Amino acid sequence: MAVMVTGGAGYIGSHAVKRLLEEGFDVLAVDNLYRGHAEAIAALQTIAEGRLAFSQTDVGDRDALIGLMREHKIDTVMHFAALAYVGESVEEPLRYYRNNTASALSLLEACDEIGIERFVFSSTCATYGEPPKVPMDESTPQSPISPYGMSKLHVEHMLRDYAHARRVAGKPFGYAALRYFNVAGSDPQTLIGEDHEPETHLIPVIIEAALGIRDQIKIFGTDYDTPDGTCIRDYIHVCDLIDAHIAVMRALQPGDERFYNLGIGKGYSVREIIESVRRVAGREFKVVETDRRPGDPAALFADPSKINHELGWSAKFVNIDDIVRTAWNWFESHPNGYES
Ligand code: UDP
Repeated sequence: MAVMVTGGAGYIGSHAVKRLLEEGFDVLAVDNLYRGHAEAIAALQTIAEGRLAFSQTDVGDRDALIGLMREHKIDTVMHFAALAYVGESVEEPLRYYRNNTASALSLLEACDEIGIERFVFSSTCATYGEPPKVPMDESTPQSPISPYGMSKLHVEHMLRDYAHARRVAGKPFGYAALRYFNVAGSDPQTLIGEDHEPETHLIPVIIEAALGIRDQIKIFGTDYDTPDGTCIRDYIHVCDLIDAHIAVMRALQPGDERFYNLGIGKGYSVREIIESVRRVAGREFKVVETDRRPGDPAALFADPSKINHELGWSAKFVNIDDIVRTAWNWFESHPNGYES
């Protein structure tokens, strides 16, 4: 089985490549290196034993993908490549629809040409928007409140319609849309890790404050209707997230349509995350309380029982300090990311 991983040089994609290599798969990583890192691929080559191919290619380049998939005899696709900043998507929606939606269309056209039968899509809980209740299961209405969420929901719809057509044509196509909550942490061996430019995610930002790379951390809103007034999110460790991808990929049969929420099923507040970084890092840093960030719902956390019942998956990292510790170990050893 040969797996193409789009966005394979990015944060989540590189963790998928590592795990696939460890499981013995042949992997083709494709990344335009716009926000991905050639250094991640170089690090992964050290464990690949000749089973990792890499191409600096944009997922929107349909003909190039067709050639690559033929050359590497790809039968399964894991599609991670995307832009993933909610705020940026509000400012530049067309860029998000081009990169996330139109590129996925090109990728699906390439899959159609090759006759791919298994496709695992990196979707997001942002496709749900403001949920009517938490925890959120897969029947939560999908009503995104950002172009980012909408750009991913369009891909879910394309997959649904395409899978239907393939079923009718007698050439079934199986896909899964995995709706991520807040992905956090890094490879415990620190071979690869999280390196975003710009970095806006809560845990890395707090860690940068603890390392003195930033002079403070801002809490965006302390007047939410939550026990301590700050927002609650479900932080899933990137290795648990990838475990779920592997379980889904192994279970996926041509003709399947699967949707799973990927979270640990428990939320932590911004203040709890700050306290966790203090404990793990053993360092003090300045915390400033500021206004709410537009578009942040008070509480988002998953009900992951569907994937638990159907595939036996559950998160191994459930203690927030354990999640934060892997992130801390990466950032402490790579304060300038891959350039360290
Ligand atoms: N947050 C914060 N300060 C920061 C970054 C994030 O208070 O510097 C809060 C943010 O308002 C949200 C939570 O932390 O409630 C997680 O934000 P992040 O950007 O990491 O992920 P999101 O939930 O937006 O996908």
